[in-house]
Amino acid sequence: MNAMEQTVVLFDVDGTLVDTAGSGRYAFQAAFLQVFGVDAVMQADRRVRFAGMTDPLIIEALADAGGIRPSDLTSKNGSLLASFYHHLQVETDRLHESSRVLPGVQPLLERLAAMDHAYTGLITGNLEKGARIKLEPFDLNRFFSTGGFGSDHPDRSRVARIAADKMNRHHEIDVPADRVVVIGDTEHDITCAQANGFRSIAVQFDWVSKDRLMAANPDAYLPDLTDIPLVLEALRL
Ligand SMILES: [Mg+2]
Repeated sequence: MNAMEQTVVLFDVDGTLVDTAGSGRYAFQAAFLQVFGVDAVMQADRRVRFAGMTDPLIIEALADAGGIRPSDLTSKNGSLLASFYHHLQVETDRLHESSRVLPGVQPLLERLAAMDHAYTGLITGNLEKGARIKLEPFDLNRFFSTGGFGSDHPDRSRVARIAADKMNRHHEIDVPADRVVVIGDTEHDITCAQANGFRSIAVQFDWVSKDRLMAANPDAYLPDLTDIPLVLEALRL
């Protein structure tokens, strides 16, 4: 193993870096109520699994559950997003005490930032502006100059590819697929890595069981990100 080999480390946001206490779900609910007058989140009940889905697909599924015509969704998309960002910001401010950075994240990011051959980016289904709103209270945006977002593409596998491409362009590097690692808390993070030949590390959070994560066959599994030597070993750094 060449310890100096350049490595791109892509982090998922919800359930991996931060626990924002359901602020995204709340913001979607409030935005649909405000713009369409329907509680799409309640209508969707448990049929829409938010975890690991990209925001564009969540919006489509909620509109469908709320009986909103695709043409109405298209024509009011701008208002819906403006309302979503507004409510996400309000909720993020309000929930400052119940939302949190997940264990080990801050020291791990500091450690990676100090390694000149490690490049950290984001891979998330969140729209970029939404991801930045969620990370801002914890001052985490400074670790992520760029990444792939739900606003780049509705398909998470494509988002992962876009994230790696943006990282290479931004840092003027050319890291091969097997030196790109996705860290995430759902099976979708693992499969989006695999679809691109990237490696994957599953990290445990509340909403996906260990069995479900292991069934997706990640390259490594971690109960959390607190053991930095263990994380670096999994990253091959
Ligand atoms: Mg997640």
